[in-house]
Amino acid sequence: MTDLPNQSLAARIDALLPQTQCQRCGFAGCRPYAEALAAGETGINRCPPGGTPVLQSLAALLKTAPLPLDPDCGSEQPPRVARVIEADCIGCAKCIDVCPTDAIAGARKWLHAVVAADCSGCELCLPACPVDCIVMEAAPGLPAVPLDGAALQARGARFRQLFESLLQVVMVLAKGVLLLIPYGVSGYYMFRGLGRPLIRCHPEDSDHR
Ligand code: SF4
Ligand code: SF4
Ligand code: SF4
Repeated sequence: MTDLPNQSLAARIDALLPQTQCQRCGFAGCRPYAEALAAGETGINRCPPGGTPVLQSLAALLKTAPLPLDPDCGSEQPPRVARVIEADCIGCAKCIDVCPTDAIAGARKWLHAVVAADCSGCELCLPACPVDCIVMEAAPGLPAVPLDGAALQARGARFRQLFESLLQVVMVLAKGVLLLIPYGVSGYYMFRGLGRPLIRCHPEDSDHR
């Protein structure tokens, strides 16, 4: 368990991360990676979506030398979003259960579609789809090169908001399951499938659906 000073450092590290929640760093999301960094348990070079700008910010915060991105985690890329190939979608809703930003609209047995503005490009929906009908493509309106630090922060703020909204609902549900409360963010991953129907009915989301 991390001590209080490390938790505070973890929050500062997490604020620098792009909030894609893609797990390419080898952790369950941005916050778990931030906590491992704060505890000195991993390196600063494991976040491909953050690329060079985030690496440099982490190096400055942690007063360490910037390292090349670890190729085992992936490479720096232009921003991309998922798109469902409509003709092939069988409406199984498995993609919805893994999406960390609730970017997929649809109901079981109905066609699903990705709200591009809410898609972090995490790619977690790709292996979840049993018929391989999700593809990644260039993010509309964004440059076809890796984003700079300011653009990453702006997108990250949106993804954080979406992720935390989802987390909030799931944690309310998790309160009824006392055994899972100590798992914190991990509780989200265990219960995200349960929380989604409530999120999708949330009035604030009506402009996206
Ligand atoms: S964006 Fe992905 S790789 Fe980077 S810290 Fe978050 S979960 Fe890890
Ligand atoms: S739609 Fe797919 S790629 Fe986009 S945020 Fe959701 S799970 Fe990730
Ligand atoms: S997982 Fe694939 S087939 Fe199932 S609803 Fe999502 S896009 Fe459609």
